[in-house]
Amino acid sequence: MKKKQNKLASKFPIVWEKKDFSIKIFCSIPNIATGILLTAGKNHFIIDPGDGILRDLNKELGVESLKDISQIFVTHGHHDHLGGVWSLLTYLRVMNKTSPLKIYYPVGCVEIESIYHAFTKVYANNLPYKIELKKISEEKKFSVKNVEVKPFSVIHKEFLPNKKKKRIVPALGFHFKYKGKTICYGGDTGYCDSLVKAAKGADLAILEAGHEETTTDDMHMTMEEAHSIGKSAKEYVLVHIPD
Ligand SMILES: [Zn+2]
Repeated sequence: MKKKQNKLASKFPIVWEKKDFSIKIFCSIPNIATGILLTAGKNHFIIDPGDGILRDLNKELGVESLKDISQIFVTHGHHDHLGGVWSLLTYLRVMNKTSPLKIYYPVGCVEIESIYHAFTKVYANNLPYKIELKKISEEKKFSVKNVEVKPFSVIHKEFLPNKKKKRIVPALGFHFKYKGKTICYGGDTGYCDSLVKAAKGADLAILEAGHEETTTDDMHMTMEEAHSIGKSAKEYVLVHIPD
């Protein structure tokens, strides 16, 4: 008998849906862009708004639903995870969004704070909606519109300009729970216990497999590592795989 296959095909967009809880991954290509939409009931949440997110969300939701979005979750500050923030914020201003927008991000993520400061400076006198930065400094559960969100720290690094030394990048994964169903998104990460724990038993685990070699790395996971974690979830999908 054929073994049960719990790995989803990874051709973009990737869609997973359980009743009124769904996720659509428009894109997740290393160094290029990520863009994810989470939907729970009538509410939409943006995860990692990389380049192209405005185009994808506009096509998916249309102007009014896009204006209603009030939460963005950012796993870390790399450009392929937040490169679409400026255009998204500007679009919402042009379309006259009036409800507040909260951006959740890991403590130490200077990229989001820099975008926020520059944006609110440029549009200081004519921004119709409020942007609230929600810095996440602990792995504590919170609820947003009936979705329970549990952030967890992951291991992610980047090379310094000399290409020899690396530095730590503040990075999070997110575990979302809605009406008993769970989605675990690890963001960019090396193999780590926090991700192993968060993915275990999840209805869906979204796991990066960005490391091309077979040796363990502290920036991204190997295929083997990602598969090994994925198998502990009910279903999983591998993303962020180099072309
Ligand atoms: Zn990254």
